[in-house]
Amino acid sequence: MSSAAGLKRAVCERCLRAQSACICRWITPVQAQAHLLILQHPLEVGNAKNSARLLHLCVNGSVMATGEAFDAGVLDSLLHADGRTPVLLYPATPDDAGLPAPPPMPMLPVDALRLVLLDATWRKSRKMLYLNPALQRLPRLGLTDVAPSNYCIRKAHAPHQLSSLEAAAQALGQLEGAPRRFGPLLDAFDGFVAQQAAYVRACAAGSRADNASQSDEQGVNRLVGR
Ligand SMILES: [Zn+2]
Repeated sequence: MSSAAGLKRAVCERCLRAQSACICRWITPVQAQAHLLILQHPLEVGNAKNSARLLHLCVNGSVMATGEAFDAGVLDSLLHADGRTPVLLYPATPDDAGLPAPPPMPMLPVDALRLVLLDATWRKSRKMLYLNPALQRLPRLGLTDVAPSNYCIRKAHAPHQLSSLEAAAQALGQLEGAPRRFGPLLDAFDGFVAQQAAYVRACAAGSRADNASQSDEQGVNRLVGR
């Protein structure tokens, strides 16, 4: 049930969450040599456990855009801004006949690159790839030596399926040849995960609280996987 009070609930302008669920304390600024472009699927925008906005707020100069099928001109501008060469963080898909074989990774210094991250479920990221031919034509970066995810609040995922923030932290470190350089990002993520878990527990304990807004309830439903 929406209420006037719920609609007027104060929202943090930086992380776009209710101020009671603000995650800005976890913002840890990092400077990456590669530029970071986050393409977020619309279904992830209101997902309370989504880490992409925290990632965006941490990585200086990163750009985040939301969409599924992007306008070709807009996407081209996002991919090639400042003359950087985009590479897509996505595993090889040799068995997917619907996708062309991507070109090899360019032999360029890391500060000439743009890391493109699809922030979506596995199924939706594949759909984004199908719907945007410009993404299909990008060289692909696959992660090596992937550590297990700390994303304990994301259920029914194998350990190697990382959150967007974890995947980006590993990829940026891999590109710079310094796997641990983005450890502070992972520390920030640990704090974020702990806050989300505490929020789930608090909401479960007070699930009949009169002041729970509809949007909060939807967020919790996602968090507990209902
Ligand atoms: Zn905030």
